[in-house]
Amino acid sequence: MVYVASDARYETMKYNRVGRSGLKLPAISLGLWHNFGGINNAENGRNMITRSFDLGITHFDLANNYGPPAGSAEQLFGQVLAQDLKPYRDELVISTKAGYYMWPGPYGEWGSRKNLVSSLNQSLKRMGLDYVDIFYSHRYDPETPLEETMMALDHIVRSGKALYVGISNYPAEQTKQAAEILKGLGTPLLIHQPKYSMLDRWIEDGLQDVLDEYGTGSIAFCPLAQGVLTNKYLNGIPEDSRAKGPSVFLNENNISPETLRKVRALNQIAASRGQSLAQFALAWVLRDGKVTSALIGASRPSQIEENVAALSQLEFSSEELERIESILRP
Ligand code: NDP
Repeated sequence: MVYVASDARYETMKYNRVGRSGLKLPAISLGLWHNFGGINNAENGRNMITRSFDLGITHFDLANNYGPPAGSAEQLFGQVLAQDLKPYRDELVISTKAGYYMWPGPYGEWGSRKNLVSSLNQSLKRMGLDYVDIFYSHRYDPETPLEETMMALDHIVRSGKALYVGISNYPAEQTKQAAEILKGLGTPLLIHQPKYSMLDRWIEDGLQDVLDEYGTGSIAFCPLAQGVLTNKYLNGIPEDSRAKGPSVFLNENNISPETLRKVRALNQIAASRGQSLAQFALAWVLRDGKVTSALIGASRPSQIEENVAALSQLEFSSEELERIESILRP
């Protein structure tokens, strides 16, 4: 069936400015790390992408290695673009990344100019695109001079293959150095993509101050702690969950009794606000305006619908915030 985007797609989504740049991102973005690979149902992937766009999610986050197999999420996204979203290309912000293992030999990962440029060329081919909107260095490479990695990002923008650049998983100190180098090159650091949720708050310890100083935005990945901050695991580990599935990134051992105790207590506050735990967890990530966008994953369209509905209740009372702190305290 021919896809036609909903006329209502811009009616409810909230768009936040990325740091002090000209770009805005939806408060909730969709990532294609899990459930969009060659092992997954392509029609479900397509439905999640088009449903997202109908809900105002204009930003789709990819990486060279998303799958499995690596590269297959970009291929699927390329197919959906060709089949459904081509007329809307200028309404979309598409990102990809390079840095994790992609091909054998010394050039298939990390932060050399050779890796970044070659990998982006491969990604563009897989997606059928001339350019991406945001290109990331996926992780800090302690063995490559930071100048080389940042000069490669600057070169990529000047060659027209990306409009903006970002970094992901860089610690605060290396982020500051990267932002400084990019500033000198005339290609500002648009955005940082760190892990951030109620269960992982490392960015509050220094990184957010650096981002504020340089006018760099942030997009928080795993805001639902891969599903742990939803109602999914409240009463056991369901068969159709990431923890039960083939993913090596979440398994039953990651969901400890101590974590579940916190999750259940948080769920009570969520319920008192009339929110699902997923909605509550997303609202919390976005609570103080420091995070530009919460980057969710999903395994079915209904999760995306539920998660976007978080935006109707983003305010927290100081009492609620204090109760959350007391639950999260170790
Ligand atoms: P989340 O924390 O949002 O977890 C998503 C998972 O939670 C879903 O796949 C689903 O799992 C479950 N879920 C989502 N919504 C609901 C709901 N309403 N009710 C019940 N369960 C729900 O994020 P991800 O871990 O998927 O990561 C999101 C994105 O972040 C990635 O796609 C990627 O773009 C980016 N990322 C970036 C990294 C980096 O190094 N830069 C690393 C990791 C991620 P289930 O299958 O159990 O239904």
